[in-house]
Amino acid sequence: MKVTFLGTGTSQGVPIIACDCAVCQSVDTSDKRLRSSVLIDVDGVRFTIDAGPDFRQQMLREEVRDLDAILLTHEHKDHVGGLDDVRAFNYVLNRPMDIYAQQRVLDHLKVEFSYVFSEKPYPGVPQMALRSISHEPFTVKGVTVVPILVRHFRLPVTAFRINDFSYITDANFISDEEKQKLVGSKILVVNALRREEHISHFTLAQALALIAEVKPEVAYLTHISHQLGRHADVQQELPSNVFLAYDGLIVRC
Ligand SMILES: [Zn+2]
Ligand SMILES: [Zn+2]
Ligand SMILES: [Zn+2]
Repeated sequence: MKVTFLGTGTSQGVPIIACDCAVCQSVDTSDKRLRSSVLIDVDGVRFTIDAGPDFRQQMLREEVRDLDAILLTHEHKDHVGGLDDVRAFNYVLNRPMDIYAQQRVLDHLKVEFSYVFSEKPYPGVPQMALRSISHEPFTVKGVTVVPILVRHFRLPVTAFRINDFSYITDANFISDEEKQKLVGSKILVVNALRREEHISHFTLAQALALIAEVKPEVAYLTHISHQLGRHADVQQELPSNVFLAYDGLIVRC
């Protein structure tokens, strides 16, 4: 199984438009963060988790030519804003794109992309096949995916576990029961927005506490804000098995 970090930034990305801070002005490519998403390849079955506004750029950068599905964590724009660009895959693969998410998230798509789901769609609109998931494990072309319910302020968000890889974005609370589903993960990805408290995201300290509890072999932090600091500086402070993710990072498990 191969995981490629397509983007590791918070909702506005890094750099932020018109920001003069040291992180946004950094010339280190590790400080250039597109909106958070990963590409997962399990024995040739390929899907992304989320498709934010940078989806097109991410697919081009990683030279993705076929994609079996998109799994959505929640309906915030930084996670679904790029879905119009599944059109390219529709043309090449000659089929609708399978989109897996909780029913509430799919209902939001029907509103936000109403032109896709209209009774007489305009020619050439994206084709999406909506696949409603529950809290039970499901399969994508034979690959088992375990959904894990987390909370993002009051909004339920789906984290996903595939084999020994778990991916949690946009969360600041996980119940003990759902945490059990993370136990045994060799690789854990978790959001760490910044150092200061935030209403809907784990801080760096909270993310590190979760990692210490779950005890994966290796952990990566994602959905990072320009307020966290420069990649190279923050990395020096982290425990030896914890890394800041960066765009283009590939991990295997
Ligand atoms: Zn987000
Ligand atoms: Zn900035
Ligand atoms: Zn969000």
